[in-house]
Amino acid sequence: MTYKRILLKLSGEALMGQQQYGIDAERLMQYATEIKTVASKGVEVAIVIGGGNIFRGVQAAAFGLDRVQGDYMGMLATVINSMALQSALEKIDVSTRLLSGLTIQQVCEPYIRRRAVRHLEKGRVVIFGAGIGSPYFTTDSAASLRAIEIEADVVLKGTRVDGIYTADPEKDPNATKFNEISFNEVIEKNLNVMDMTAFTLCKENNLPIIVFDMNTEGNLERLLGGEPLGTLVNS
Ligand code: UDP
Repeated sequence: MTYKRILLKLSGEALMGQQQYGIDAERLMQYATEIKTVASKGVEVAIVIGGGNIFRGVQAAAFGLDRVQGDYMGMLATVINSMALQSALEKIDVSTRLLSGLTIQQVCEPYIRRRAVRHLEKGRVVIFGAGIGSPYFTTDSAASLRAIEIEADVVLKGTRVDGIYTADPEKDPNATKFNEISFNEVIEKNLNVMDMTAFTLCKENNLPIIVFDMNTEGNLERLLGGEPLGTLVNS
């Protein structure tokens, strides 16, 4: 396996599968199975999962709610997704721990970096819930920050597209894919990889990002087995 310790970022929206909202049981189990496969090959796996399938802070205004309140609702949405993924992993006998950026002690451990690293060393899959625990951030930022803190080798951003393109491939048929691109080129070309806070954290800490298609079965294992899938963003 090419990387020893990974931070896998999954979007909440991907969890919807074909549904319009919430969690699709089949997609959830597909993700769990793929994670089990790489974990059983000795890769230390940490996961951050988004909450966009349930609630995003930016939606708050549409409900007449305060933005900060909305962001906390979004963070709680990520905890719901994290609990679902934890349960799916445990169902197939993967040892897991859920560490939360907000204190919800009945359902998850508080986030403590040393504890997270220890769980990983013991072969447990670690899920980071509630983002970084502060409003005005995203789960991409949480993924970058936690990855740096636990000294992950790479952030794997699992999406529904198979990498970074010159333009949106769902809108522009002439868009071409990058196999590899530098942090600076992403900025110069104004490409959308992650929000700037998340992206800058990776850039400044030389943490590579791979954007890949997580919805094609077996891709996570193929990627970690060395196949050149997706797009690698590097210094
Ligand atoms: N959020 C936040 N702080 C964080 C992480 C998340 O306030 O550190 C909130 C924010 O409102 C965000 C929502 O939680 O919109 C859900 O996360 P995100 O939008 O990143 O989920 P994804 O797009 O990956 O499904």
